[in-house]
Amino acid sequence: MISFEEARRTILSKVAPAGVERVMLLDAAGRIIAEDFAAPWDMPRWDNSAMDGFAVRNADCAPGVTLKVTDYIPAGVSSDDAVTQGCAARIMTGAPIPPGADAVVPFEETEEAEGVVKLLHPVKKQDHIRFKGEDVASGEPVVARGTLLGPPQISLLASFAALLVPVYRKIRVAIVSTGDELVEVGTEPKESQIVNSNTLALAAAIKLCGAEPVILGIARDNRESHLALLSEGLKADVLITSAGVSAGDRDLVRETLVELGVEEEFWKIGIKPGGPTAFGLKGNTPVFSLPGNPVSTMITFEEFARPALLKMMGHTNVFRRTVRGYLQDEVRKKAGKMNFLRVRVTLEDGRYLASTSGDQNTGILKTMLRSNALALLPAERTEFKAGDEVELHILDATLEMEA
Ligand code: AMP
Ligand code: MG
Repeated sequence: MISFEEARRTILSKVAPAGVERVMLLDAAGRIIAEDFAAPWDMPRWDNSAMDGFAVRNADCAPGVTLKVTDYIPAGVSSDDAVTQGCAARIMTGAPIPPGADAVVPFEETEEAEGVVKLLHPVKKQDHIRFKGEDVASGEPVVARGTLLGPPQISLLASFAALLVPVYRKIRVAIVSTGDELVEVGTEPKESQIVNSNTLALAAAIKLCGAEPVILGIARDNRESHLALLSEGLKADVLITSAGVSAGDRDLVRETLVELGVEEEFWKIGIKPGGPTAFGLKGNTPVFSLPGNPVSTMITFEEFARPALLKMMGHTNVFRRTVRGYLQDEVRKKAGKMNFLRVRVTLEDGRYLASTSGDQNTGILKTMLRSNALALLPAERTEFKAGDEVELHILDATLEMEA
C-alpha cells in the first residue's frame, strides 16, 4: 500500500504532454499554447488617434486659436498629406496620425464651423495619440509556451492575425465500466441490477478537463469481455476503468490488463475512499483502474486521473486550489489511511471553514452533491475537533478566493 502523495508523484512522473496540434484560434480557448508567441509587428502598427477629433500641430495651438480643416481621415484610411502650419485634419479614432501632426484635440474640446475649427483648451504635444509599438513591440514575446489561452490571449493572437495556433493536443480517454450487475443508462434496472452511472460521471469529468471521453461500454465479468474492451481502450491516449479492481472473485481488471501487457505501477493506496485504485502503463499509455463505488470513482478520478490528464494536455497547474482551512465539526476516523472528508467550504473573514456535508459513508452519493471541497484527514490521526486545521482541495472553481 502506498501513500496518497507517493501515488500522485508516481503517476505524474509517468505522464508527459501527448503532443502538439495546430487548431483554429477559437478552438484554442481553454487549451495550452505549445510554443512561445512573439509579436510579428508593432502594435499599434502606426501612431494613431485615440479620439475622434482633429490632428494638429501643437506649436500652432493655444486656447481660442482657429485652424483651417484641410483633411478628413476616417478609421481605415491613412493620409499622406501633411498637416501644415495653421491647419488641422479631422480624424477618427484609430486612424493613422498624418505627417506633421503631433497631437489630437477631441471634438469635445473644439467648436467647428464652415471649414474651420476653434480650440477651446490648451493642447499638449502627444495628446490623444497612441504610439506605434506602445502596446507590444515587434519581436516581443507576448504569450509564453505553457500559457492557458483565455479571452485576453485569444484577443492578442487574433490582433496579430494568428489563425492557427499550436496547442498541446487534446487527449482521448477511453472509459470501460465493468460488472455483470450493470445496465446502461436508459434501461430500468431489474432487481440486483444497477445503472452504469460511472461511465457518464467519468465522461463528464473528462470533458470538464478539456479531454475527449471515449465511451466503450460495459465489460462483463469474464475474461473474454474484459480482453475485448480493455484492449480497445488501450488504443486511446489514456484508459480508465471502473470497478472490478478489488479483491472480489470476479475482479478481473488487473489480471486482464497484465495479460494485455500493462505494467502495474501500484495497486492500493492508503486512502479512504478509493483504496483499491491501481495504476499502470502500457508503453506511454497510462491506465487508471478506479474502484466502482461511485463516490470512490469520482474522488479517485479527481485526485489521480485529473492531474495526469491535465499534464498530458500541457497544463502545468494541474491541481485544484489547495488551501488550509478549519474544520467546523468533530470527526473521528480509524488510524492507518488518509481520509477524504466531503465538505462544504465557506470563506469567512479570510478563513476557509469546512463543515462536513453529510453522511461520509462511501455509499452515500448525495453527500457528494452537497460538497464543494475535500478535506484531507492525515492517515495516523483519529480525532479531529472543531477548529482543527486541515488541508482542503477546492473542487468548485467559483468559490471565492481569499480576500
Ligand atoms: P466492484 O469494485 O466491482 O466491487 O464494485 C463496487 C460497487 O460499485 C458495486 O457494488 C456497485 O454498486 C458499484 N458500481 C460498480 N460499477 C458501477 C458503475 N459502472 N456505475 C455505478 N456503480 C457501479
Ligand atoms: Mg464488480
